[in-house]
Amino acid sequence: MVKEISIDTLVVSSNNDDQHNSSVPPLYQTTTFKQKSVTDMGQYDYTRSGNPTRTQLEGQLAKIMKAQRAFAVTSGMGCLDVITRLLKPGDEVIAGDDLYGGTHRLLTLLNEKGAVNLKHIDTTDTEVVKSTLSENTKMIFLESPTNPLIKIVDLPEISKYIRKNYPNCLIVFDNTMMSPLLLSPLQYVDIQYESATKYLNGHHDIMAGAIAVNDDKLGNDIYFIINSTGCGLAPFDSWLLLRGLKTLSIRFERQQQNAEKLAEWLESIGFKVRYPGLKSHPQHELHKSFNKGFGAVLSFETGSILKSEKIVEGTQIFGVTVSFGCVNSLISMPCRMSHAAIDPEIRKERNLPEDIIRLCLGIENIDDLIEDLKDALILSGIAKLVDGKLVKQQVAKL
Ligand SMILES: *Cc1c(COP(=O)(O)O)cnc(C)c1O
Repeated sequence: MVKEISIDTLVVSSNNDDQHNSSVPPLYQTTTFKQKSVTDMGQYDYTRSGNPTRTQLEGQLAKIMKAQRAFAVTSGMGCLDVITRLLKPGDEVIAGDDLYGGTHRLLTLLNEKGAVNLKHIDTTDTEVVKSTLSENTKMIFLESPTNPLIKIVDLPEISKYIRKNYPNCLIVFDNTMMSPLLLSPLQYVDIQYESATKYLNGHHDIMAGAIAVNDDKLGNDIYFIINSTGCGLAPFDSWLLLRGLKTLSIRFERQQQNAEKLAEWLESIGFKVRYPGLKSHPQHELHKSFNKGFGAVLSFETGSILKSEKIVEGTQIFGVTVSFGCVNSLISMPCRMSHAAIDPEIRKERNLPEDIIRLCLGIENIDDLIEDLKDALILSGIAKLVDGKLVKQQVAKL
């Protein structure tokens, strides 16, 4: 038996059927393809329906995502739009209450219009998920780890329960935080999608989304929607994503290493740090049981909104930027930035600390990153150097 080829190798393999044997897949920057005759259509006719550069990318994504079929669309949210169009009006759907903000926004919009009947629950509580499911549930949306709270969904257990008791409920999983490098969710779910804007591309220079399935009918339905709505990824963006993908393993391994070191360092100073790789994370073992790593996003609390603002603004190497998955390290205050649109009352209900700082690690040298954060901590007054050692100060809650 041929040993399964590792994702590290798959991402750089670039076989293509170019007539000149180009080493890198060519870019077909064209909207139309000439037909041999009025009746002989050939494989491609119009780029909305199909383009060789996109096909090349989708083949590559299918391999990496361990899927029969994969699709490249214009963004992560584009994936969700396509997937929700598989539903019928009024279908019951279940979604986590700590999902990505844009996911929450689109599902809430569909719910308000009566397009779906949405139940928001804590999907990190498996018993709650089990008791909410019914014969009427057509789709469940899961995401793990959530961010910035970094809570873990028991994907294997929920999947086993749904497949046994509610086989008609489609399980949809947003794998943006782990990427195919750390998790192959199709063994547990029907539809996997991710924002390729993040780790898959890795350079914050294109928006893209990837959907993967292992079922012919689902694949055909999804292709029909993408072709009908015109959200397939453009040729140039497909070409750039093919290039970005090649370094997924090497980038993400370094990013993860940096995150692990930074999380340990922050914890050693006395901060409450949320990172699934820390033994102190309440779901450390659960996360480890089905993922190959811990990712590169973590968050920590300072106890003071003002101090958090000073820390975020005091860094030099970290960019004050939303999003993650980029080769550059990023720092943000979710309640002021990515999650600012969520009603403060709801933020409180969901136990989202207003002072929480999110760090998304890039590939820089870890000593430089720690030095940068150290300076920002001192500048904010939350920590002080005592005999060359960084000591956390008590702060008044503001
Ligand atoms: C960014 C993100 C999305 C949305 O992807 P876009 O490419 O920005 O549309 C969806 N889910 C998660 C978890 C994300 O981080």
